Amino acid sequence: MKNADMIPFEEAYRLMMESAAPLGKENLSLNEARKRVLCEDISSDVDMPPFNKSAMDGYACRSADLDAPLKIIETIPAGKAPEKRIGEGECSEIMTGAVVPEGADRVVMVEHTEIEKGKLVVKHKSAGKNICYRAEDIARGDIVLKKGTVIGAPEIAVLAAVGCVDVPVSKNPMIGIIATGSELVEPHREPEGAMIRNSSSSQLAAQAKSAGFEFRYLGIVEDTPEAIGGIIDGNRGGVDIFLLSGGVSMGEFDFVPGVLIERGFDLLFEKVAVKPGKPTVFGKGKDDFVFGLPGNPVSTFVIFELFVKPFCFALMGAEWTPRSVIAELVETVERRKTARVSYLPVKLIKNGKVQIVEYHGSAHIHAYTTADGFISIPVGIERIKAGERVEVTLVK
Ligand code: AMP
Ligand code: MG
Repeated sequence: MKNADMIPFEEAYRLMMESAAPLGKENLSLNEARKRVLCEDISSDVDMPPFNKSAMDGYACRSADLDAPLKIIETIPAGKAPEKRIGEGECSEIMTGAVVPEGADRVVMVEHTEIEKGKLVVKHKSAGKNICYRAEDIARGDIVLKKGTVIGAPEIAVLAAVGCVDVPVSKNPMIGIIATGSELVEPHREPEGAMIRNSSSSQLAAQAKSAGFEFRYLGIVEDTPEAIGGIIDGNRGGVDIFLLSGGVSMGEFDFVPGVLIERGFDLLFEKVAVKPGKPTVFGKGKDDFVFGLPGNPVSTFVIFELFVKPFCFALMGAEWTPRSVIAELVETVERRKTARVSYLPVKLIKNGKVQIVEYHGSAHIHAYTTADGFISIPVGIERIKAGERVEVTLVK
């Protein structure tokens, strides 16, 4: 146990990130590669465009010849090489994407022309040459995507364009989601008496899914060291990251940190100066990691965004930072205790402004259904005044 005392967010984040090492490599098809992270630089095996290409449907001509009617010598569709060179007083009809013939230095768009007595007359001379030049986007051998890139739809297009169909990516960590709490029942059951539904696990699964991480839901366990230890033991080796919720606070039945230490996890922190989420635990095992998150759904939600997500991307070899926007706060927010960073749900409104969503604390996940993200009030700060610009971390 290294840091049982509360430590600042930045220190916890640093300790966590320092313990991350990429998990290994695999190759995936283009269809499977979305949201994965490239583990090698990718270079192009072709020039892009591969030839001087027409950007318009029109006529390939010589700029010097546009004042007199031109003889049309050929029609060049996309996918077919031109057969004739453009000489003085000549042009070829050309389609978008077709190869610009030798001799031509511009394409006049069809809308700027008319056919008179079988010849082409250019009615309007515009400055644009309407040619995409060979290799102007990418030259053969250029690096088109760097190692560490998170693959989205445009990256898939680039991989396809350079023929990279066996995509080298980092392995994805397998997350094992466990809910601890003797009061919990699965969502399909009606909770009776002192029971409540397990909402945090489904939420964590949804967050993992939208980030592109793999996960297994391992179930609910009671608040006993035996039950918590048993589910960890039973899944050791099968997951890379245990993601537990509940049982990390100071209560008599909060056994999670002790059980993790018994199981050989080195706990790098047990309390972080954040609100919600103070009792967040992070530990490193021989071949795996563990997060113990406070069980309230807002805490699990925010801590997943702040810690779990960047950590998983780090295991995949990517440097990930959340998306955020700067907006003007429309009302003053105040607080008395300033020892922790507070995260508050906010909604973006018109004209670059943002308002605080009514929020009653870490059980009030319903507040986040109307929020676009959260803002943070840093340690030592009591208020942010109306009219100040704030960074909104987007979470949807
Ligand atoms: P704990 O972190 O175990 O101290 O729990 C803090 C609060 O969150 C308690 O009110 C729990 O009932 C509630 N809670 C714990 N786990 C969950 C869960 N999986 N889903 C919804 N609420 C939970
Ligand atoms: Mg509990």
